[in-house]
Formats: sequence, structure tokens, C-alpha cells
Amino acid sequence: MSCVFCQIISGEIPGEMLHQDDEIVAFRDVNPQAPIHILIVPRKHVASLSELKDKDLPILGKMAGVARQLAEVEGISERGYRLVINCGPEGGQVVPHLHMHLLGGRRLSSRGG
Ligand code: 5GP
Ligand code: ZN
Repeated sequence: MSCVFCQIISGEIPGEMLHQDDEIVAFRDVNPQAPIHILIVPRKHVASLSELKDKDLPILGKMAGVARQLAEVEGISERGYRLVINCGPEGGQVVPHLHMHLLGGRRLSSRGG
């Protein structure tokens, strides 16, 4: 049985897609924590940053590139935004498929949690 993000990537369950390429998709978070809350997700299922192999580390740069591009499209580049990767239970990761949060559109507190 595939995970919820794999199901969104495959189209089994709907997501508001904002970006799709060979390696990465991006869609709006179903429970937004800010006016703009987008999830940037590699197509390949990797459970978390801890599980990401050294050879696959370049995907993080590509995810950051997609985030930067979407921040531009969403009009928050100048105002600023935050990128977050939660990892593991104490890091607050709920969905076990590597993803980056793009948060913006309001002033975010200076420290998380
Ligand atoms: P995590 O806490 O694992 O870093 O973040 C998981 C995020 O995925 C949460 O912000 C949650 O709202 C979002 N999420 C969980 N299920 C779905 C879903 O089915 N669709 C979308 N668009 N977002 C989801
Ligand atoms: Zn998955």
C-alpha cells in the first residue's frame, strides 16, 4: 500500500498541483499553517531525510529550486518565506515521504515550536 504522497503523485487522490517535473511535484497543503503553504515532494519514495542516500542528496537542491520558483510565482519572494523539512517523530514529521514545506504570506515567528 502506497503512502498518501505517493497516492497524490500517482493521481489516486487529488492534490492541487502547482509544479510537476521528472523528479519533483508540488501541491498545496490540505491543512495550511500560513496563507501560502506548499509541499515540495520528490516523486521517488524516500521515508525521510535520514533515509536519503548520499547519492540522492542533489534532490534537496532541486526541491529548494522549485520552492524558490514557486515563491516567485506566489509573489512572496520579496516579503520572505520559510522552507522546512521535518524529520522523524521529534522533528514533527507526520507523512513518511520526504517533503519540504514552503510557508509564507504572513509574518512567521522567529523560532519554530
Ligand atoms: P509533516 O508534518 O510530515 O512535515 O507534514 C505533512 C503535511 O502534509 C502536513 O502539513 C499535512 O497537512 C499535509 N497533508 C497530509 N495529508 C495530506 C493530503 O492528503 N493532501 C495534502 N495536500 N496535504 C496533506
Ligand atoms: Zn510515498
